[in-house]
Amino acid sequence: MNVRISRTDLANMFTRAAQQIREHHEMLSKLDSIAGDGDHGTTMLRVAEQLEKAVDPASSQSIRELLKDAGWKVLSIDGGASSALLGTFFSGMGDAEIGSELDCKSLSSALEAGLRAVSRQTKAAPGDKTMMDALVPAVSAFHSAASAGKTVSSALEEAALAANSGAESTKALVARYGRAKFLGDQTRGYPDAGATSVALLFNGFSEALMPERKNSYG
Ligand code: ADP
Ligand code: MG
Repeated sequence: MNVRISRTDLANMFTRAAQQIREHHEMLSKLDSIAGDGDHGTTMLRVAEQLEKAVDPASSQSIRELLKDAGWKVLSIDGGASSALLGTFFSGMGDAEIGSELDCKSLSSALEAGLRAVSRQTKAAPGDKTMMDALVPAVSAFHSAASAGKTVSSALEEAALAANSGAESTKALVARYGRAKFLGDQTRGYPDAGATSVALLFNGFSEALMPERKNSYG
């Protein structure tokens, strides 16, 4: 049970998140080809690569540096909407007050700072069939668990489950942002690609602290 997480724990979280993306990138491109231009899996593979580079101890020393470095590396990808928003999220997390270890409340503050940074870049909100349908409930579930005094690992599990439900809920929605908005009703029946990626990232984060955990993406 983790009460505080170190830079090494955070590095493991990013590594597991990158693994989840590598395992599922084909599905991500398939979803984006239904509602977009089909490049989302390729972009997310590049995001995974940058997360793996950022965890290298030669690249970043502290938790804050790791978050900032991951953010800047992901932002540097020429990958369209999703990498710009995810890079903003990670770099925004690094704007929070962060010490040498993160307890549940400070990780919650970092996640909220990341979400605020993303919300300055897009007006999309839950219900619009974008990555926000997974990101907003994940950050909110983590915050509730942190406020209830839960450990980081159980808060991350709750965040991952909320991201899964949020991504699943996009199946019923019609896209109002991004390339998918031009396809209207055609986007109904399939989950949003970016929301699915956010769910995969949070499942990876959670599984870094709970290696025995299995997620619904397999
Ligand atoms: P692009 O649309 O530039 O090809 P990707 O295919 O990598 O980028 O990512 C598409 C995903 O990005 C969508 O499924 C959606 O989740 C997210 N997205 C796109 N535009 C926006 C936006 N304006 N606000 C929030 N999320 C967005
Ligand atoms: Mg695309």
